[in-house]
Amino acid sequence: MRSTTPPATLAALAAASVSLAHPVPQGPGTITDRVHYCQPGEDGQLTGGMVLLEVPADAPGQAPRGGAPVTTILDNGPSANRIDITFVGDGYRLADLPIYHAHVASQYAELFELEPFITYAPYFNVHRVDVVSNESGVDNDPTQGVSRDTALDMAFWCGGTERLLCVNVNKARTQANAAPGRDQVVAIANSTKYGGAGYTSSDLATASGGNAAAAQVYIHELGHSLGNLADEYTYGGPTTYTGGEFSDPNASIFDATEQSTLQIKWHEWIGESFAGFDGIVSAFEGCHYSTFGAYRPSSNSMMRNLGRPFNMPSAEALVIEFYKTVSPIDDASPTGELYEGHHASMSVTPMQPAGHNLDVQWFIDDEPAAGQTDPTLEVCQLQLQPGTYIVRAEVTDNTSWVRNENARAEFMRDHRTYVLAIATQPGDRDADGDTDFDDVIDFLVDFDAQDASADLAPPAGVFDFSDVLEFLARFASPCG
Ligand SMILES: [Zn+2]
Repeated sequence: MRSTTPPATLAALAAASVSLAHPVPQGPGTITDRVHYCQPGEDGQLTGGMVLLEVPADAPGQAPRGGAPVTTILDNGPSANRIDITFVGDGYRLADLPIYHAHVASQYAELFELEPFITYAPYFNVHRVDVVSNESGVDNDPTQGVSRDTALDMAFWCGGTERLLCVNVNKARTQANAAPGRDQVVAIANSTKYGGAGYTSSDLATASGGNAAAAQVYIHELGHSLGNLADEYTYGGPTTYTGGEFSDPNASIFDATEQSTLQIKWHEWIGESFAGFDGIVSAFEGCHYSTFGAYRPSSNSMMRNLGRPFNMPSAEALVIEFYKTVSPIDDASPTGELYEGHHASMSVTPMQPAGHNLDVQWFIDDEPAAGQTDPTLEVCQLQLQPGTYIVRAEVTDNTSWVRNENARAEFMRDHRTYVLAIATQPGDRDADGDTDFDDVIDFLVDFDAQDASADLAPPAGVFDFSDVLEFLARFASPCG
């Protein structure tokens, strides 16, 4: 039987985290976060590990807005329905801000050169907050004991680990709140030293702005902080992992045969290979800091090595995470719930990834309306009899990059619902149940009396031939 006790080294790392270079507030209002620190080792392979750190629990809306100047460097739409990545800098004096701007520019640009971020780039906004520090550089750089007065208290040697680049989470969040819609925060240190951290639960990553590998390290850390992904490299843990199954979507104690038999983890991806991703997917032994007893989905993905693509199970996890922030329906009109009449028109605006459209289906009383798969529904086309109907638009991202249908249904599908009230058939002006010559008479009487009900065409208040034509069009064809 597999033990659920954490590996000894991890427990030791967690214990080591008690002594922080810059202690963060402890006690009520804190959570224990899994913080990854990963960077290229001397052989170029990724190395690092994970520690458990006490960090302040997030308190949305409580941190004050306003503060340092904000520049939105990638604007893809309203923050309410986008993943807003906000960069904050530490150890940049006013005179260093041009360096900070260059560091941020190189980091975020590289992110959108890698799938699934290329395809889903329209789901992201990127903001830069120009935080100014009193001194240039961060603590313990290049060596332990170096102390600097900076805005976010960033420091190497966090918890005794040289490459673990920590930040005061509260200060980073407060500064990030100057930008709209904070979802992911990236704290950039003014340094050239290798280092970084991915705070899994805090949606926060740190990076060393001037390091050549910084952008790749940051993408890897985003795999942790945004995708909740595990490291797939084998350094830093026990040689053989003997603990329980991992919660991470890209690490398992089960090999390919066991996964297929048990129908768990990435069994749906085994044998698959997609362009732009690390394949072929199987279960490769060596993952989560151990050489044996833990499996990864592909040979050499971004979660194992820098400059590599993500593998499919990781990409699937990322896309699902995108949809935990972004609704597939970006906008809808009308906004009210009750809508009346044959000439009603309703529409949804689906999100638009690069390369594929989301699928739209309209439903009438829970039945799919045949052929109604456009973003706009013209009610007249349905030729509905008088009555009250529940009209629903459903928008789904059916990307083949996601095979977890439960997650698709829960996160990647959204709907808008209207109550549609139809009093009469099209053209049935006198509402006697038939569209006939009586309706023509009814219109002409109202037209002659200059009744508002006969003022069908602009300009308003003018009763002319255009109103007659409009009536005849509706009479002849409900969608005319
Ligand atoms: Zn990592």
